[in-house]
Amino acid sequence: MDIHVLNTDRGHGAVGADAEWLRRGVAVTSGGENYAAKLRQIRSGDWILMWLNGRGVVAAGRAVDDRVQHVYPPNVVNSSEPEEYHRLMDWRLDLRSNPISAAEFTALSGVRPTSARVRIRDPERRAAVLARLAELERTADPTQYEMIADSMLALGPVSKPIGFPIPTRIEGTTNCFYRSPWVRAWTLQRAGRHCELCKSAAPFLKSSGLPYLESHHVVPMSEGGGDTPENTAALCPNCHRELHCGAERIGKREELKRIVLGQEMK
Ligand SMILES: [Zn+2]
Ligand SMILES: [Zn+2]
Repeated sequence: MDIHVLNTDRGHGAVGADAEWLRRGVAVTSGGENYAAKLRQIRSGDWILMWLNGRGVVAAGRAVDDRVQHVYPPNVVNSSEPEEYHRLMDWRLDLRSNPISAAEFTALSGVRPTSARVRIRDPERRAAVLARLAELERTADPTQYEMIADSMLALGPVSKPIGFPIPTRIEGTTNCFYRSPWVRAWTLQRAGRHCELCKSAAPFLKSSGLPYLESHHVVPMSEGGGDTPENTAALCPNCHRELHCGAERIGKREELKRIVLGQEMK
C-alpha cells in the first residue's frame, strides 16, 4: 500500500478545489497524458493526501478502485481545464480546519510536495504518516472532539463520513472509546439548531456562534454501537441526561433510533 500526495493547486488554482474534491469524492489531475499516468500509478486502497499550497495536508482518504475517469466540461472541477482525470475516493479525514502543516509533513514524510503527485517511498516514513493520520481521524480528548467538529462546521457544509462501525477502546480504560469529530460535525449539521429528540431549540449559542447540542451514541459504544452517523444524535442537555438516567430511557432510545435512521435514509 502506497501513500501519494496530490496537489489541488497547480496552474490556474481552481478556487475551492479542495471542497469540490471532498464533495464529489474524487482526486483530480489535469494537463495531458503525463498527468493521467500519474493517477494510473495509484492502486485501489492506496492512501491519497490532499495538498493545498500554503496550508499543507487538508484531507486524506483511500482510492476506491483502479479506474481513471476522463472528465470533460461541464463536469470538470476547474472550469478552465479542457480535460481532467478523476479517481474515485473514500475521503476519510477532512483536515481543513487543522491541516498537517508543510513543515510537519516534511519532517514526518521526508518529502516536499512540490509537483502534482509525490509518493512516500520509505516504509518507516509511511508508517509515521499513517500513525499521524490515525491520530487525527479520532480523538480521546473531549475538547479536541468539540473543537475540531466546530471548526469543520465553520468551513461550510460537511460531507457525510463513514465513521467507525467498530470503535476502538482507549488503551487502559474499560468503557472509553476514540470518537470521530467528523461524525459529530455531520450530526450537528443534520440537527440544525434543534435537539433531534424533543425538537426544541438548542438552549444557547456557544462562543463560536454555533448552537449548543451534545453528541450521544444511540446504542452506547460499550454495548457494540458504532461511532457512525446512523448511531449518533445531537441532543439538548435535558434529553441527553434523560437518555442516560431517565426511567423512560429504553423507550426514548427506541424513539431516537427511529428518528436518526429516518434522517439518514432521507
Ligand atoms: Zn431535547
Ligand atoms: Zn450520551
